[in-house]
Amino acid sequence: MDLYEHQGKELFAKAGIPVAAGRVAFTVAEARAAAEALGGRVVVKSQVLTGGRGKAGGVKVVSGPDEAAAAAEAILGLDINGHITRRLWIEEAVAIDREYYASVTFDRAAKMPLMMLTTMGGMDVEAVARDHPDRLARLHVDPALGFRGFHAVQLMSAAGIPVDERKAVGAMLAQIYGVFVAEDAMLVEVNPLVILDDGTLLAADSKMTIDDNALFRHADSSAMRDVAAADPQEQAAHEADLAYVKLDGDVGILGNGAGLVMSTVDVVAQAGGRPANFLDVGGGASAEKIATALGIVLSDEKVKSVLFNIFGGITRCDEVAKGLLGALETTAVRAPIVVRLDGTNDVEGRELLERAARPEITVEKTMLEAAATAVRLAREAR
Ligand code: GDP
Ligand code: MN
Repeated sequence: MDLYEHQGKELFAKAGIPVAAGRVAFTVAEARAAAEALGGRVVVKSQVLTGGRGKAGGVKVVSGPDEAAAAAEAILGLDINGHITRRLWIEEAVAIDREYYASVTFDRAAKMPLMMLTTMGGMDVEAVARDHPDRLARLHVDPALGFRGFHAVQLMSAAGIPVDERKAVGAMLAQIYGVFVAEDAMLVEVNPLVILDDGTLLAADSKMTIDDNALFRHADSSAMRDVAAADPQEQAAHEADLAYVKLDGDVGILGNGAGLVMSTVDVVAQAGGRPANFLDVGGGASAEKIATALGIVLSDEKVKSVLFNIFGGITRCDEVAKGLLGALETTAVRAPIVVRLDGTNDVEGRELLERAARPEITVEKTMLEAAATAVRLAREAR
């Protein structure tokens, strides 16, 4: 789950990382009131779950409430990389001298958190990595060891942080790593990490991604989810505790087990089609569970056919067939469903479906045949 800048800064503040005082605003009037309360110069910042707001005109430094209102007027509704601005963060402006960059993310290949630091902050870190790779210091941190003083020293000397700043920057690096661990984050990025005119440090921006699988132990960050900004299918799947990933094709995919669903996605592509989603219904076969999963897939308008792929192990295919028939009693089905049942009690399962003779169901014996039929039906519906 991605956090808004202001939410990330809330977690930063809790961890002792210095941030400027600010307020959230959803309207021009709230933006004006926030600027009045904060007094003097403020920064009006678009809150969207994407980067590059500065370049897109989503960050404006202003000198008072009137200008803050005008900036809010301009930024509310602003489209930044396809994300419409619906909320603002109004923050006390600071006198920036230099802009650095610091982050912690996962390096899956190394199986360790990776810290990065550069004095070339404020801009796109990808551009720094491409054009000035020698200026981007990178260091893995063994999670069993945690972040130690020598990590800070190594990073800061490789990045060329001035010696008189190292005590403060090193302390902030430790805090950033601390937030990454404490919040079960996948990413913590501070860009820019600013050095103010008076020499103090501040996190002027925050980008955080929390591991969805850890949200159950973070009531405060779970509550930060912006339901309105979430994709409706992803939100429904999240609430039903189903593993769902939206893709951009028109063949809806349901299966039991992540591996099977992934191969179903591949087989649909092999048959010349485009998967609309990945949905793992998991074990068991209750009509209720299947109905929920089917409902989520069918609520995506782009779905023109559904491929229901089950391999029965502990889950019995006849139970799945009963569940599916039960689900059809409660779910309005607006697209054809192709079913492939294989494994435990598959013959009985197919018999049940054939006997029911539901017009919306086509039964196929193999995964490849089922994919070909689902792809053909989707094409015919276009
Ligand atoms: P991003 O473009 O989405 O990463 O948004 P940022 O929050 O990083 O803001 C972009 C740029 O706006 C920063 O690199 C700063 O130069 C500037 N900026 C952001 N906050 C402040 C502030 O409080 N004061 C001043 N003077 N500039 C700021
Ligand atoms: Mn930034």
